[in-house]
Amino acid sequence: MSNELPFARPLIGDDERAAVDAVLRSGWLTTGPRCREFEDALSAYFGGRPTRVVASGTAALEIALRLAGIGPGDEVITCPLSWVATANVVLAVGATPVFVDADARTRNIDVSRIEPAIGARTRMLLPVDLAGLPTNRDAIAAIAAHHQLRVLEDAAQSMGANWKGARIGSFGDLVSFSFHANKNMTTGEGGCLVMNDAEEARRFEKLRLQGVTRLPDGSMDVDVLGAKANLTDIAAALGIVQLRRLDAFNERRRALARLYFEHFDRSLGFALPPADFAQSNWHMFQPLLPLDRLRIGRGEFIDAMRREGIAVGVHYPAMHLFALYRARGYHEGQFPVAEDIGRRTVTLPLHAGMRDDDVLRVCEAVQRVTKAALR
Ligand SMILES: *Cc1c(COP(=O)(O)O)cnc(C)c1O
Repeated sequence: MSNELPFARPLIGDDERAAVDAVLRSGWLTTGPRCREFEDALSAYFGGRPTRVVASGTAALEIALRLAGIGPGDEVITCPLSWVATANVVLAVGATPVFVDADARTRNIDVSRIEPAIGARTRMLLPVDLAGLPTNRDAIAAIAAHHQLRVLEDAAQSMGANWKGARIGSFGDLVSFSFHANKNMTTGEGGCLVMNDAEEARRFEKLRLQGVTRLPDGSMDVDVLGAKANLTDIAAALGIVQLRRLDAFNERRRALARLYFEHFDRSLGFALPPADFAQSNWHMFQPLLPLDRLRIGRGEFIDAMRREGIAVGVHYPAMHLFALYRARGYHEGQFPVAEDIGRRTVTLPLHAGMRDDDVLRVCEAVQRVTKAALR
C-alpha cells in the first residue's frame, strides 16, 4: 500500500543527497575524511568527549564490552525489554546477561531491583533507554560506584535526549548510539561509542578494524583480534547532515507526541507511556493494548490498523522468551512486568516527517479498531 503511514521513516533531504553525491564523486568511499569529520561533530555534540563511529549500534556495544574487558565468567546486568542486540552482544563476548525486570511506569530497567541481582561475577550495568526515555542516571551511577562496576549505556534510541538537562552521551562511562534507519538520526546503518579518554578511543579504533595498529614508520602490527566494523564515508556524509538536523527532528517528534496525548481516547483503556516532554527524544510512541478488554489479539489489531492505512510495529517482545535465551534457562514468569509490556506494546507512527493530522488519523483509527473489538 503506497499511501500507508509507516511507523518510522527517515527524513532525507537535498543536503543529505548532495553530501553523499560528493563522496561518490570523490573516489574515496570507505573510512576517510568524512568519518573523521563526523566523529569531531559527534564529539562536540557530546561536550567534547572522545567519540568513534562504527558500522552499527550492535558493533558499538560489542566493542565497548571488549574495551571494558568483559568476557567468559563475567555477568552483565540488563533489562529484557530491548532490541535483542543488547543481550546478544553479551553472549558474543562469552559473558552472561543477567536480566532485571522492567519498571511498569518507565518501561526501563527497575533500578530498585538491580542491587539484589549483583553477585561476585557482576562486572557491568547495561541500561537501555527504551523509546528514548532515559533510564535514571543518578541511580545507575550510584549503584555502579558503590559496587565498582562499569556502565555501558545502550542509548541507541536516546540520541539527543537528556537526563535532568545533561545530554545523554555528555557524561557517564561508555555510551553507545545507533544510526540505524529507524532511529532519530540515521546513516542507513551505523553507530558510535562515547568513551572516557584518548587511550580508550585508540583501543576502540583497533577493535573496530581487524586489530590493526599503524606504526609511525608507516608499517603496521596486529596484536588483538579486531572486528570488521568500520563505517564508510558515504554513511558518515549522511550522518554529518543528519546530526545538524537532529535537534529540530527531536523537537518535531516532541510536538507530535504532545498531539498524541491530546487526541488519544483515554476511555479505550490503553496504558500510555510517561508524558516526559523534558527529557525524552520521543523515539517511539508506544501505548499498551488493553488486551483483557478486547476480543482480538495484537496481531489482529495490527492487521486491522493496516486496513486503515496505518503501519504498527512491535518493539519489543521480552527477549528472555526468545528460543536462544529459553535454551539458557530463562522462562516465562521470571520478569512479569517486562513480559506484560512485551505482550501488549504497539508502536504507533511517530517520525519527524509526519504532519499534525497524521496523528489525528492514527488516533481515530485506533478508536475505530478498538471500539469494534471491545468485549
Ligand atoms: C537499534 C538498537 C540497537 C542496535 O543498533 P543497530 O545499529 O541496529 O545495530 C541496540 N539497542 C537498541 C535498544 C536499539 O534500539
